[in-house]
Amino acid sequence: YKGIKPVWCPGCGDYAILNALVQVLARNRVDPSKLAIVSGIGCSGRFPAFVKSYGFHGVHGRVLPVATGLKLARPDLTVLAVGGDGDGLAIGMGHLPHAVRRNVDLTYLLFDNHIYGLTKGQPSPTTEVGHKTHASPFGVAEYPLNPLALALIAGATFVGRGFSSHTKHLADLIEQAIRHRGFSFVQIMTPCVTFNDMYKVWKEQAYEIGPDHDTSDFQAALHLATAAEGLPIGIFYQAEKPTYLDRLIAGVKESERLKEARRYDDEADAAGLDKLLERLQ
Ligand code: SF4
Repeated sequence: YKGIKPVWCPGCGDYAILNALVQVLARNRVDPSKLAIVSGIGCSGRFPAFVKSYGFHGVHGRVLPVATGLKLARPDLTVLAVGGDGDGLAIGMGHLPHAVRRNVDLTYLLFDNHIYGLTKGQPSPTTEVGHKTHASPFGVAEYPLNPLALALIAGATFVGRGFSSHTKHLADLIEQAIRHRGFSFVQIMTPCVTFNDMYKVWKEQAYEIGPDHDTSDFQAALHLATAAEGLPIGIFYQAEKPTYLDRLIAGVKESERLKEARRYDDEADAAGLDKLLERLQ
């Protein structure tokens, strides 16, 4: 923690997320020079200012392309991408499925408060239908997106949900997401107490996913993510798959191997097979 005082509204869930992340970094003695936090625009965008690490406060909705480029250029860094539901699921939505299907080894923390907080309370892609704001005086007419189901369908290899109010549980979840090799998607329910205070509702609904849930079972994960009742928190799904970088390296190696094989073919054509065999012996 850098010691800079956050400027979020008193009671905002983002304080607890910061607390959870700092706990994880401290207990794992993470070297700040080996960590980079990339953020978008929104109340969550201030995050890199508070944590001792490299930080990049990007433009609206572009958290994932920046984080992807950073991870490919510096694979030795642990890269965390943070952004809100407006940033990631509206203007930045096109990037999510592509970052997910590439399986870049980074962790994306989606701060979901079901509203645009920084711009003072417009409905976001996860705002409840019927919710009234100054920008939707007759109630929101669209049905909300389900970020977990989207991440699962796109092929994320780690999908989880935390709640800012369950800080210890959230810290453990973030730690497991960071440890996961591949793209980790964590939706964090974080109440915007000023413009859409869901604290009491989520507090009542939240329950920890039990040990009987098989995190390797995709259908069970999707079922849980689309459950009409309650707010399950924990790991929904986890799978092992080569990362984007693994596949790029494998592709380059394969191309080198083919080039080498072609070179022998060409030599064989030019010098005759017998001569080449003699040389190889
Ligand atoms: Fe938090 Fe909402 Fe205030 Fe932003 S506007 S700091 S999300 S409470």
